[in-house]
Amino acid sequence: MKITNVEVLVTSPGRNFVTLRITADGLTGLGDATLNGRELAVAAYLQEHVAALLIGRDASRIEDAWQYLYRGAYWRRGPVTMAAIAAVDTALWDIKAKAAGMPLYQLLGGRSRDGLLAYGHASGAELPELFDSIRQHLDEGYRAIRVQSGIPGLPSVYGVASSANAAAGAGSDARYDYEPARRSAVPVEETWDTSAYLRHVPSVFEAVRNEFGPELPLLHDAHHRLTPIQAARLGKSLEPYDLFWLEDVTPAENAAVLRRVREHTTTPLAIGEVFNTVWDYREMFEEQLIDYVRSPVTHAGGITGLRRIFDFASVYQIKSGAHGPTDVSPVGLAAALHLGVAIPNFGIQEYMQHSPATLEVFRSGFTFADGLLNPSDAPGLGVEYDDEVAAAHAYAPAYLPVNRLRDGSMHDW
Ligand SMILES: [Mg+2]
Repeated sequence: MKITNVEVLVTSPGRNFVTLRITADGLTGLGDATLNGRELAVAAYLQEHVAALLIGRDASRIEDAWQYLYRGAYWRRGPVTMAAIAAVDTALWDIKAKAAGMPLYQLLGGRSRDGLLAYGHASGAELPELFDSIRQHLDEGYRAIRVQSGIPGLPSVYGVASSANAAAGAGSDARYDYEPARRSAVPVEETWDTSAYLRHVPSVFEAVRNEFGPELPLLHDAHHRLTPIQAARLGKSLEPYDLFWLEDVTPAENAAVLRRVREHTTTPLAIGEVFNTVWDYREMFEEQLIDYVRSPVTHAGGITGLRRIFDFASVYQIKSGAHGPTDVSPVGLAAALHLGVAIPNFGIQEYMQHSPATLEVFRSGFTFADGLLNPSDAPGLGVEYDDEVAAAHAYAPAYLPVNRLRDGSMHDW
């Protein structure tokens, strides 16, 4: 089964996506290579340094291709390299499953569950808008909700829709109007105030629990902005509101700081959406410093790389909680669903819904019903790429915002 063609596809139906398409024996496989805000770096890595290495290789030797690209490159790890390897790996799994005539999850061991619990992104600058947004998500069938709120004194906060859009319905990009922040040559700059955030957030969760009751699973993302002791304080202050998880409390570089957070709070912790390999997690798993793994297929070396991470996590009763914002393409989401339905230690799947324009480019067979996502039962990943529709959407730079403190200092994500 020789690889005869490798194509790097860039399209922008409202936001930018990079997709790898591999052809072997007349079968095509797709892999997501989208790295939000740095998309063309991965496109160039694949086009200039990987595509020629794949032509003529045996498409059925997936593990060997992974090891060849990882060990053979000398420069290991990092988001650009691992997104490129992920795209190759996912496309080869897509081909293998199509050749077998099975949905991919069958090759990964078959179903371990009936569906994947998904959480949606509710947000609001003020409580009334936030409550409307939560109700809108519940009406759409979500059974778990991420709650992000505006902060008094800050004009805008990443992850929080503007007041006019907070309760916009499914199939609209409007309720995610913070993402991408703006299509422009440079990122938007936002002001951040950690003290104001720490004062306000517990009152938001108190209000949400009072309104929606004790049973609804609630999540919150701190976007890497806290010091260890601030994170410990936040986790402790949120304990009465029984969060499903508290996400990305501290910057990702230093795993050891989570020991301090763990000393002070029993609020479950999720981390890792910017991690790329199993080695990034070693210390956190072995010391049980986290409860959920945030890496997506797209940024962690594909099905092969992420399954290795999840298997290692399972030794420590740590579960999956894969990153699933709208910059993970429908190809990346489909890969996550096939893997998530098969592994023993699935926890939850993030599900920001893609826009209608995105779903016209990526024709996808996955379903969302009664709060559960399910992969397509078509052979392979179950996603088809429409070249004609894709060609109508030209790439345009778009960035996540950057954060400065009130005195102008750069601050962490
Ligand atoms: Mg996050």
